[in-house]
Amino acid sequence: MHPSKPIVGRLAPSPTGGLHLGHARTFVIAWLAARSGGGRLVLRIEDIDASRVRPGMVEAAMADLRWLGLNWDEGPDVGGPARPYLQSERLSLYQAALDRLKQQELVFPCTCTRAEISRMASAPHVADGEPVYPGACRDRSAAEAELLQLSGRSFAWRFRVPPGKVAWSDLVQGDLELEPAQAGGDFLVGRSSGEPAYQLAVVVDDAAMGVTQVIRGDDLVSSTPRQLLLYKALGFVPPQFGHIPLVHDSQGWRLAKRDQAIKLSSLREAKVDPRRLVGWLAVSCGWSENPQPCWPADWLGRCQPLSGLPVAPWILSHDVLTDLGLNAEHGRS
Ligand code: GLU
Ligand code: ZN
Repeated sequence: MHPSKPIVGRLAPSPTGGLHLGHARTFVIAWLAARSGGGRLVLRIEDIDASRVRPGMVEAAMADLRWLGLNWDEGPDVGGPARPYLQSERLSLYQAALDRLKQQELVFPCTCTRAEISRMASAPHVADGEPVYPGACRDRSAAEAELLQLSGRSFAWRFRVPPGKVAWSDLVQGDLELEPAQAGGDFLVGRSSGEPAYQLAVVVDDAAMGVTQVIRGDDLVSSTPRQLLLYKALGFVPPQFGHIPLVHDSQGWRLAKRDQAIKLSSLREAKVDPRRLVGWLAVSCGWSENPQPCWPADWLGRCQPLSGLPVAPWILSHDVLTDLGLNAEHGRS
């Protein structure tokens, strides 16, 4: 997509519950994918979900990333041309983008509550546990928001998703295509609280920060077609996307932020050598047969960070947990 442009990658943690081993793997791969191509990296803190961000979490996320041996060229601590790098300080940019979508009549005010949406979306209309928005408000014009406001009704903003498939060539998973009208339908771009929704904020930021390569967990695969629609609507050039399979525990569960023991901050505080973790990550990515302690930078020029990654989730084995000083029973609550 950008054959001649230098790579700009990004690390975009949400500082809402502490980063865990799965985040470590994704961020190490994202860092190597940018650095191996001589690229730059931006650190952006995704803290717009204010109700979930507790004091100290932003600093903790940055400390976790540094502990892993990662660095960045732009970010909240080092500054840069696209500052600020905290989403909570970029709200006017998201508002401006939403206004542009309103002017083009690509979004509509939605008064449906969550309960109404679940009720209207009958069983076949649930994709990935998320009800498909039933379209109840999609014929409203953007201007009708003023009337709703006058009558004191609260409303969110949704993007009117056109029918059809959206395809992209994923840097990790190859050619993918999804139909966002079937998977979720018209999606949120602005919350009724006035806060922007993730889909809009991430697109506005990646575009403004000149990001050309988005490497993230594959829990976000279904967001990519929505974000591609937003790139098109806003007239931005989309980056390339690569989705990294998640990490599962030995029972096959997806790691969640509530798993205390596998948090990077716990390992950090227990004085675990981060190179031991990176060694295991290298094994999990197929770069090495043995978990030799190493830094991410030791792999520069010695691995292809994106090609040949296993597409199945990485299962955290007993050996990994033991070697990192974690009890195999890592206390899922
Ligand atoms: N902040 C999101 C997360 O931590 C990642 C968003 C993205 O990479 O697009 O899950
Ligand atoms: Zn609605």
